[in-house]
Amino acid sequence: MNQFAVDEVVLGFLFAGGAHAAVMLWLLGHPARNPMKRSLCIWEAIGLLWHVGMAGCGVFKLNPDMLYLFGISEVLWFKSTHVLSVLTSMAVLSFIYSILQRKIEWVYRIWLVHLTCVSIYIVFSQMNFASYEAEEKIGVMGPLLCYFFCIGLMIYTYIKNADRQLRMRIICTVAGLGGALFLYTLFGKILPDIMQFDGTDLRAKIVIFNGGWVSSFVMIAAVRYGIVRMELDQVAEDIFTNMTDPVVLIAPEGKIMRVNPAATARFQNVFGQDTLPAINDFIPPENIVGETFETNVLTSNDQSVFTCTRSRVFVSGEDLGSILIMRDITKEKEVDRMKTELTSTVSHELRTPLTSVLGFARLIQKRFESVIIPTYEPTNRKETKAVKQIQQNLDVIISEGTRLTNLINDVLDISKMESGKLDWNMKEHDLGTVIEQSIAAASGLFARKPEVTLQQEHNDKMPILVIDADRIIQVILNLISNAVKFTDSGTVTIRSQITDSAFKVSVIDQGIGIAKADRPKVFEKYKQVGEQQQGRPKGTGLGLPISKEIVEHHEGRIWVESELGKGSSFIFTLPLQPSAS
Ligand code: ADP
Repeated sequence: MNQFAVDEVVLGFLFAGGAHAAVMLWLLGHPARNPMKRSLCIWEAIGLLWHVGMAGCGVFKLNPDMLYLFGISEVLWFKSTHVLSVLTSMAVLSFIYSILQRKIEWVYRIWLVHLTCVSIYIVFSQMNFASYEAEEKIGVMGPLLCYFFCIGLMIYTYIKNADRQLRMRIICTVAGLGGALFLYTLFGKILPDIMQFDGTDLRAKIVIFNGGWVSSFVMIAAVRYGIVRMELDQVAEDIFTNMTDPVVLIAPEGKIMRVNPAATARFQNVFGQDTLPAINDFIPPENIVGETFETNVLTSNDQSVFTCTRSRVFVSGEDLGSILIMRDITKEKEVDRMKTELTSTVSHELRTPLTSVLGFARLIQKRFESVIIPTYEPTNRKETKAVKQIQQNLDVIISEGTRLTNLINDVLDISKMESGKLDWNMKEHDLGTVIEQSIAAASGLFARKPEVTLQQEHNDKMPILVIDADRIIQVILNLISNAVKFTDSGTVTIRSQITDSAFKVSVIDQGIGIAKADRPKVFEKYKQVGEQQQGRPKGTGLGLPISKEIVEHHEGRIWVESELGKGSSFIFTLPLQPSAS
């Protein structure tokens, strides 16, 4: 029997195969459990198979006797390794897709069809593909073409993606690939020409060897990148599992896909079953509004209030569903209720003595001005000064007393509204009259600030609705008073419109505006926003929360649209046909 022969190409393939086997073993021992790990393992298995196949191909070529030993023909062996080789290209592409987290695009589908056709052609054609030339074309050029596409894909992702870390990794991979390709050309093509090698065999060996080297480089970079991703996925998984707040993953069509252990423990009654329900069976659909919402949910022990943040997850434009993070605020609500109760009791106790103080101060002022001042002749400068001082001090007592009374009335108003104890005087009213009355009540504000002028744009026909007219006037007046207060000069426009199902009132000013981050805060109690608080007209921070309670009691909605420095529009709606309840 002839001596068993191997060459450096065979050894190169075996070496690369060994590297794949080592990485695969390392991956299998890694504690992560996620799709990225699965995809890396499959990738390594394909790499291992391909390199062992190519090494076998070389061994059979160098030792033709062995083919007959195994009972297979040389042609069959070569054809099968080539098919494996083209299929590897497909694996490379799907691997790159998976590490870049892209959904399968048309390019991938075309590649798939192309490779399937090439594989069928190889198997059924008359060619034996047993030459190094064919090997080079199919075995190396095929995957290389694929790598070029992958590089393009990485560059594209780089340009489209704003994530700095991902961009850095892509830049390193592409720069490394560029260097590898340069060396490949240098050693495979340029150097043999310069050194005037003429044996085609030697040139083919160099080309194949360098091809393998370049592929290994691509693989190492890609696998390294994949591993980082896999570990990141695992960190995300650990956070998900160990979070103390309930987290719920929802599919795009609304079915709950997964919940974390905190959610299972809290909602044993719902998530303790074998199948997970749809989100609408867990949280009443009418409560799921916007990205952040509050809702009552029945837990294993009691009824609790949660504030939920729902974030949609998009990967390369594909909607993967959403993540719902829930925070139990039952205790906070209770503390808030107690706080409101306390302030309301204290305010109530303050109001009676304050009313007397203010009443007597007004009486003293009236008497002083109508009885004392007209008949009193001051004898010296000191007396004149004292009289003036008394008048000024009385003004301060009355204006501060009025401000305090307004604040107390606001506090009592909101606490009554929140606890449902306010008596609403709901009757049919013409909204035209209600708006007219509000504007009449606000006329003093414009008179005191002539730089701000009033404009009106109304619907020709005004609806008649069942409302508490005084309270709706309070809302409009509060919006107009804010608009005047926060506008140095310009117009305040009151606009009313009838939309499909609602009557809509907008109060539009050209004032200081509200920053985006502050907009949701203005409807919170005692919140006064903006940077220029100092020197600004004082308020209570309760006007808007009260307006919100009033509008919501009428089943309407209130919101703000604004641009910092350009002005704000406060808009509220009242339904034309309130619900029967
Ligand atoms: P108050 O006006 O008594 O402070 P509000 O609840 O009516 O309380 O308003 C809360 C805060 O919202 C105000 O302090 C102000 O910072 C902001 N705000 C309200 N209306 C406007 C407006 N038209 N333009 C700019 N900021 C406004």
